[in-house]
Amino acid sequence: MSTIQRYANLGAVVVPFLALLLAIVLLWNRAVGAIELSIMAFMYCLTGLGITVGYHRMLTHKAFQASKPIEYFWAIAGSMAVQGPAIAWVADHRKHHAHTDEEGDPHSPHVGQGSGLKGLWFAHVGWLTKTQGEAAFRKYAPDLCDDKGMRWISRNFLGFVGLSLFIPFALGFVLHGFSLTGALWTLLWAGFVRIFFLHHATWSINSVCHFFGQRRFDIEDRSTNVAWLAIPTFGESWHHNHHAFPRSAEQGLKRWEIDISAAVIDTMERLKLVHTVVRISPERQQEKLLAARKAEPAPVAG
Ligand SMILES: [Zn+2]
Ligand SMILES: [Zn+2]
Repeated sequence: MSTIQRYANLGAVVVPFLALLLAIVLLWNRAVGAIELSIMAFMYCLTGLGITVGYHRMLTHKAFQASKPIEYFWAIAGSMAVQGPAIAWVADHRKHHAHTDEEGDPHSPHVGQGSGLKGLWFAHVGWLTKTQGEAAFRKYAPDLCDDKGMRWISRNFLGFVGLSLFIPFALGFVLHGFSLTGALWTLLWAGFVRIFFLHHATWSINSVCHFFGQRRFDIEDRSTNVAWLAIPTFGESWHHNHHAFPRSAEQGLKRWEIDISAAVIDTMERLKLVHTVVRISPERQQEKLLAARKAEPAPVAG
């Protein structure tokens, strides 16, 4: 990783955090209004789903098929989450699946940087200044490298970061009655503070969801399901289910495992915007259960 890249990532971590502190200080004197919060919620959903539905389930795992305009829409929405260009994100994440919790995993809390809290911190943020963007694009994301549109979107990542900040600024300007102060307030909340919250929601999947939580499938890694993160991560915190069935469009596999991204994919399928949605039958899930594996009779020797 180059020094420029390292500092750029550090900036992407620190600037939204400083913005959060500034927002709290300013909040002391003047409460945040409905306009800022509504645009913040809208931008959080758009860019968060850009990561979960777009970057993750569609681009990384091919959990469903879509026409190019739909693919590009989600790739742009994902770019606006400020988590790196689509091709780099996909390559890193496929490498995570190829080497989960072993040597070569770009962000495991269990290898590379020690264990315990130190490992947890590395998997959450530390990896961004060490291993982020190092997965070879050609090796891990050849399909995206061959796609001209996807290359263009990845190359223009910084432009989409700008758009991600400009939209709240412009909406705030108009909705506050063409006020520059209103625009700046909205930029702070729906731009920087929103990026801060979504960053930490996504990074929690790398850290918390390989550290605390429940497991039920017989798989080798240390991934976990974490119920309290299900809503802010749009269903991605059923991460143990995801490692058991990476291609599944649904990561919440039980009725009560709320998975907003799966609901969005379902809706797109009903509207005929996407097709070939990968789903895992109850039988296949049953076969992989820890209890089912343990119940198998041991092979008889001789
Ligand atoms: Zn994982
Ligand atoms: Zn994945």
